[in-house]
Amino acid sequence: MSDTNIVRTRMAPSPTGELHIGGLRTLLYDYALARQNHGQFILRLEDTDQKRHVEGAESRIFQVIKDYGLSWDEGPDIGGPYGPYVQTKRLNIYQKYIKELLDQDLAYYCFCSEQRLTEMREVQKAAHKVPKYDRHCLKLSSKEIKQKIENGEKYVIRLKMPDNENIVFKDLIRGEIKFNTNELDDQVLIKSDGIPTYHFAVVVDDHLMKITHIFRGEEWISSTPKQILLYKYFKWEVPNFAHLTVLLDPSGHGKMSKRHGSTHARAFLDDGYLPEAMLNFLMLLGWNPGTDKELFTLDEFIKEFNLEHLHKKSPIFDRKKLDYFNGLYIRQKSDEELFPYFKKFLPQASDEQIKILIPVLKERLIKFSDLSEQVKFLFEDVDYDKDLLLKKGTSSELAAEMLNKTKELLSDFTNLSSRILNLISENSWNTGEFFMVFRVAICGSSFTPPLVECLPALGQEGTIRKLDLALTKLK
Ligand code: GLU
Repeated sequence: MSDTNIVRTRMAPSPTGELHIGGLRTLLYDYALARQNHGQFILRLEDTDQKRHVEGAESRIFQVIKDYGLSWDEGPDIGGPYGPYVQTKRLNIYQKYIKELLDQDLAYYCFCSEQRLTEMREVQKAAHKVPKYDRHCLKLSSKEIKQKIENGEKYVIRLKMPDNENIVFKDLIRGEIKFNTNELDDQVLIKSDGIPTYHFAVVVDDHLMKITHIFRGEEWISSTPKQILLYKYFKWEVPNFAHLTVLLDPSGHGKMSKRHGSTHARAFLDDGYLPEAMLNFLMLLGWNPGTDKELFTLDEFIKEFNLEHLHKKSPIFDRKKLDYFNGLYIRQKSDEELFPYFKKFLPQASDEQIKILIPVLKERLIKFSDLSEQVKFLFEDVDYDKDLLLKKGTSSELAAEMLNKTKELLSDFTNLSSRILNLISENSWNTGEFFMVFRVAICGSSFTPPLVECLPALGQEGTIRKLDLALTKLK
């Protein structure tokens, strides 16, 4: 850890697309550890791979983090004492450090052409060897190097791996991890356009930004020994690493994938999940409190989060559990708090209609995007077959009688629940049969939200109009 003992965590997204939901989980753990220890959480943009850069991705990443109610203490937009926090704005910094490595023979120039490297890899593959740079350029004398540079030959700068040395580090989740340098390639540190690779920039930045804990996905484990070697070459203190598990798809087919639903942090909000429900769900996807407690506010999580209870085993992204959490969080909110969500997801509804619908619909709601389908009948005449009205074996005549008598009753649009029940008993109708006819007439479907309670949102005129439409079908 750094000398000051202040916990500093960071999230370092590359602007190559939307923030993945797994990335948001990493960020949540970074955030909690920093807050818990009164440290800082830093956001840094790793944009050295310009080929994969997606226009506007950075602002979308920043915005989605804010939309989940999280924030950072230092970052590209707000600056901070160790900025700039965008890697392409730090190129002069990397130049200084690569020079140090070159001067100490810990890195070297490589002038090999793409063609030579491809041929080399093919030969290695044919011989069933792991493709690895053959150190062709390591033999060049300083005179040859100078000459080639003067001739304008293109080059990259590679890390010089020591032969047959063990690099060992203690992962906070997985314990000791060991690599032998013979398994590792002489990693390119600076590309031919002078821009550093991720491997080099990440080490320089994490050191200069005084990062103490690095949480990242387990797909980065094999990069860590190369980075540790760089820390050693520079004689810098190695930060703590915690490689988090991947999120598995509930289908049982490996990593969470787009084929089975959204995987981007933004998509879940667009789909009508509440940020606090999502965060609570993510807290437990890789960590447990050691008790049965499942519901955590962000503040509670910050207090209880600990490194000891991070999981070694990959969790399944159980969407049913997420739905359960979301339903709970929806019901914890007051009708006033729910108003903006209903408004957003039911743009055609008037404020009056929304006020009627919130208490009726919130009890069974799973996510806000389900709303529009549930109350589609308020805004359009859903087409249906006459047979659906008669689904329970009702005759056309009886169905017409039921609807006509209900129509008469609706000329007074008050106390609908009790007056409709009276009507049913006065006529000795079967309740189930009546409600099927009435339900289909109003909604065009046999599955609907609480029907009578929704009628005030449809209004007297609208309700009568739906009954008239149903009656024409029965003729
Ligand atoms: N820029 C890397 C990414 O996009 C960050 C990896 C790391 O955290 O070291 O995931």
